[in-house]
Amino acid sequence: MRWISHIAIAGAICAVVNPAAVPAAVLGSTAPDWIEMIRRAFSRGKKVKHRAATHYLAAWLALAIFARLIWDHQSWLFWFAMGGAVHWVCDALTVSGAPVGWWSDRRVTLFGGKVYTGSPAEYVITGIIVGVCALFIWLRTTTPGGFIPFFYHWADFYERGLVDGLEWRIHRFDMI
Ligand SMILES: [Zn+2]
Repeated sequence: MRWISHIAIAGAICAVVNPAAVPAAVLGSTAPDWIEMIRRAFSRGKKVKHRAATHYLAAWLALAIFARLIWDHQSWLFWFAMGGAVHWVCDALTVSGAPVGWWSDRRVTLFGGKVYTGSPAEYVITGIIVGVCALFIWLRTTTPGGFIPFFYHWADFYERGLVDGLEWRIHRFDMI
């Protein structure tokens, strides 16, 4: 997928869950490609395959888990990794797919890998995801008390002293 789609999708998802980490998610959402460019620049003529090592889903998820175990300011590292994972999902929707890990000898595609990069379908998918995320954010800001179905406001509860920090940490990703 194009960078604009990667950025829009990862940024929108992150904005729903953790607005403070959007810059990290945006950076992460393009990281598989720009890290690949850096590797290519330093490869001294050796060929760096497109959508290879920097596009391993397992590596991005491992980084996300690692970020959860350490002190992570505003969850930036976590969302950087989630951005990379979102990039993988987007690339896996395309015809050429994306590799799950270093052990995979072929790339995986999601939903049949029918999307061509830069095609109208890519922008329709991007638009739907961004739209749904915008709806969540809109509902949150317009609903009195901050409660919306399917999405509890643990961060809100925390700020109002209804739950303690530990409870917030545990539940902040709960969707119901
Ligand atoms: Zn990519």
